[in-house]
Amino acid sequence: MRIFVTGGAGYIGSVCVEQMLNSGHEVTIFDNLSEGHRSAVDPRASFVLGDLKDLSGLVAALSGAGADAVMHFAANALVGESMTNPTKYFRNNVTGGMHLLEAMHECGVRKIVFSSTCATFGTPERVPIDETLPQLPINPYGESKLMFEKMLRWYDEIHGIRYVALRYFNAAGASERFGEDHRIETHLIPNVLKVALGQKDEVSIFGTDYETPDGTCVRDYIHILDLAQAHMLALGSERSAKYNLGTGGGTSVREIVASCERVTGKKIKVSEQPRRPGDPARLIASSDRIHRELGWTPKYQSIDQIIESAWAWHVKHPNGYGD
Ligand code: UDP
Repeated sequence: MRIFVTGGAGYIGSVCVEQMLNSGHEVTIFDNLSEGHRSAVDPRASFVLGDLKDLSGLVAALSGAGADAVMHFAANALVGESMTNPTKYFRNNVTGGMHLLEAMHECGVRKIVFSSTCATFGTPERVPIDETLPQLPINPYGESKLMFEKMLRWYDEIHGIRYVALRYFNAAGASERFGEDHRIETHLIPNVLKVALGQKDEVSIFGTDYETPDGTCVRDYIHILDLAQAHMLALGSERSAKYNLGTGGGTSVREIVASCERVTGKKIKVSEQPRRPGDPARLIASSDRIHRELGWTPKYQSIDQIIESAWAWHVKHPNGYGD
């Protein structure tokens, strides 16, 4: 297939592009490089520097790509930032997303796989979180992704654009070639690994008084290659659907630090800090639906394995992509 990938120069996009190219698909990447990196663009893909907010440029790029399907990764994705700058999230994720659907309709592209998030669920009434739970976001990031999920339904019903929305839990790890490099790094695992690399003195633990076994937040970390596999399956699925994607296991912030110490062999200094606004205590996925309907099963179930792949990438790229 010919696939048009927004945000293909970002962390998750770059690994998914790599895996799609390995499977014989043709890829055009559309990215404004605000978060992504030029050197995270797989050289086998075509690249268009563009912004979702520029509708005419987007339509030109999409029709030029002759795409059969779209994969939509381009978005702002930081909970904390969304709590101080909601406009950025609604403008880029909602208005940008609407342009993409408009462009797809105009160009006759009838399939989209969307990077959604567990943040659309807010603080869930129970875990694991399955697709039947109410979506009540507690930050503008989650709200902006939920708004796009809602738009998908109507573009399907009215214009026949089939969609698969994948609600990622916490993406982590790396492929051999592509890994996680955010210009402003707020994510836990890369920040812990920066301490192991000697680039930071300590890592903050945000909140030690949550109602969890060790008082720190619990998240479901999923290997980026397992996420990529889910995208490939979603591409082949005919039906519109929304799926939660995680391993079903929960790892606390302190457990992540301990795993990083095991994997790197370094002692990680931590500093206990107050809670970070917008963080729910526990987010764990039930991925039963995607397992049942698309046959997806995560290969990487152990947190040490996930962190080993991230560590290997960071050791090889101590300054990330360097741009
Ligand atoms: N976290 C932390 N220290 C950091 C970064 C994150 O304690 O330097 C915590 C954060 O509060 C959350 C968990 O680690 O409970 C995962 O955060 P991350 O930003 O990696 O992903 P999110 O769950 O926000 O998507």
